[in-house]
Amino acid sequence: MFQNKFSRKYMFNLILFGPPGSGKGTQSEKLIAKYGLKHLSTGDLLRSEISRQTSLGMEAKNFMDKGQLVPDEVVVGMISSALDDNPQVRGFLFDGFPRTSSQANALDKLLERKMSPISVMLALDVSGEELVKRLVKRGETSGRTDDNNEQVIRARIIEYHDKTAAVADHYHQVNKVVMVKGEGSIDDIFNALCHEIDKRLLSVERQGAGN
Ligand code: ADP
Repeated sequence: MFQNKFSRKYMFNLILFGPPGSGKGTQSEKLIAKYGLKHLSTGDLLRSEISRQTSLGMEAKNFMDKGQLVPDEVVVGMISSALDDNPQVRGFLFDGFPRTSSQANALDKLLERKMSPISVMLALDVSGEELVKRLVKRGETSGRTDDNNEQVIRARIIEYHDKTAAVADHYHQVNKVVMVKGEGSIDDIFNALCHEIDKRLLSVERQGAGN
C-alpha cells in the first residue's frame, strides 16, 4: 500500500502533540490499534528504564520527579535506537516527543535518513484548568509520582510553555500542524484525529510522505 512505482516504502509518521494531560496517551492507544503504527512514547520509554533501574533511568528520574524535562541527548538517543529497532513498520506515532526545538531538529535529521519525514502534527487543545484537574485525578490511580503532587504538575505545565510550545512553531513553518479540540468525549476526539489522518494517509499512499 505504501509502495510507489519504484517500490520505495513510505512511512506515515505522526506527532501527537499537546500539554501534559491533554490525552496523548489515551488517544495514542486507539490510533495505533486502528492504523498499525508503532507507538513511541518517550515518557513510557523513560518509565521503563526507571523500573529496570538502568543508569539512564536513574538519571532521568531526577528530572522527572521535579517536573523538568530530561536532557535532549538522553531522549534523542532513545528515539534513535527505537527507530533503528523498527525498520519494517508502517509508520511511527510520536507521543511526548519532540519536546524541545533541538529534539525537533534531531528528529527531522533522523527521519531524513529514512526518507520518511513527519506527515503531520496533530495538536490537542485543552484549557489550563482542565489539564490540572485531569492530572490530579490521574494521580489518584496511576501510581505516577509526577502526577500526585500539584506543584510538580504545575512545573510540568510551565516547562511545556517555556520549552515545548515552540515545537509547534517548528512544524507550523512547514505547514504540518493541525489543531484538534482535546475536550469532549474520548470518541469524539478520536474521530476528529482519524478524520485528519485519513485525509493525509491517502496522499502519502499516492505520492510519498512530505510531497
Ligand atoms: P505527560 O505528557 O503527562 O507529562 P509523559 O509521560 O509524556 O507525561 O512525560 C513524563 C515526564 O518524562 C516529563 O515530565 C519529562 O520529565 C519526561 N519526558 C518525557 N518525554 C520527554 C522528552 N521528549 N524530553 C524530555 N523529557 C521528557
